[in-house]
Amino acid sequence: MNKYKIALIKGDGIGPEIVDEAVKVLDAVASCCDLHFDYEEALMGGCAYDITGDPLPQETITTSLNSDAVLFGAIGGEKWDNLPREKRPESGLLRFRKELGVYANLRPAVVYDELINASSLKPEIIKGVDIMVVRELIGGIYFGEPKGRTEDKGWNTMVYTRSEIVRIAHHAFKIAQKRDKRVCSIDKANVLDVSQLWRDVVTEVSAEYPDVELSHMYVDNAAMQLVLNPKQFDVMLTGNIFGDILSDEASMLCGSIGLLPSASIGDKIGVYEPIHGSAPDIAGQGIANPIATISSASMMLRYALGENEAADKIDNAIKKALSKGYRTQDLAQFDAKEVCSTSEIGSIIANYIAR
Ligand code: NAD
Repeated sequence: MNKYKIALIKGDGIGPEIVDEAVKVLDAVASCCDLHFDYEEALMGGCAYDITGDPLPQETITTSLNSDAVLFGAIGGEKWDNLPREKRPESGLLRFRKELGVYANLRPAVVYDELINASSLKPEIIKGVDIMVVRELIGGIYFGEPKGRTEDKGWNTMVYTRSEIVRIAHHAFKIAQKRDKRVCSIDKANVLDVSQLWRDVVTEVSAEYPDVELSHMYVDNAAMQLVLNPKQFDVMLTGNIFGDILSDEASMLCGSIGLLPSASIGDKIGVYEPIHGSAPDIAGQGIANPIATISSASMMLRYALGENEAADKIDNAIKKALSKGYRTQDLAQFDAKEVCSTSEIGSIIANYIAR
């Protein structure tokens, strides 16, 4: 039996409701795949501030670093919006990512056949879309120096070093090896020196992965191609700001924000979380869609723990629940046979795994 320690950071708003459902599903997969999970809860966000005066208590970092992976809900809410910046929940999250050194952000955009009508694009364009955006997360223009502003001028610097590009490129190629073996690297090498380095280094790294096909695309064209013909992409490798924009665009091909998982990975511990926020408008009502978090738990099994069979079981159970017409409120108008609460859909997915 493989045993794992999982840090659970439920957070604020709908965070506790959706993480509880992911735990229900993990427990189901544990019993049928001979796994054992020890969970340790840690505080972050507004709830942590309320109890400790700090949105990211040191204990949370320690607990996370002592675990095999972190499963994260969401943080934030109006109640804490007027606190000084460093006390706000969002500051805690940014600090957390930095402390854990998670430099690779993975965001899959998968269109479920059952929800083909939930997308704003035509079914024939999006049917079968399965993209993984691999975004560099702790470098580039969001962190480059110098930066600043005066009354009449503002400036930031887009900078990447060879080693930063090498490590994210290896990530992208390794992921592509487990998928359709194609990497499209996105840059603006026709204009930016930093992108020329990016392109050269990615090409160099690709020599170590002869089984993976590499192509390059300018970011403006990539934005267009994503809506024109998204099926052409397998893995999209991008720097920080281009990935920020393109991963949001890619995720919206799929319909609801309540479906989309993510992983933030570094050399230490990975953080697995839905792409959405704490949805205070629906918190406590039992109507949040937990699928993004359940799917994040599946990514955790696949990428942090190497438990691919268990991850497949979760992915298949989600698909089965959707194909049978079970929907939470956010997807109720798209071919729903039965509208379920957060906890009901969690139980349905867990039961499909147990069978
Ligand atoms: P949000 O993602 O929380 O909500 C946007 C809309 O999507 C809302 O109408 C919400 O009800 C809906 N929604 C989100 N998740 C859903 C789900 N699982 N099921 C059904 N509907 C869902 O974004 P927001 O309203 O801009 O932000 C709310 C709070 O979350 C803010 O404090 C923000 O700072 C924080 N936030 C946190 C994270 C994070 O923890 N990683 C990310 C984004 C925003």
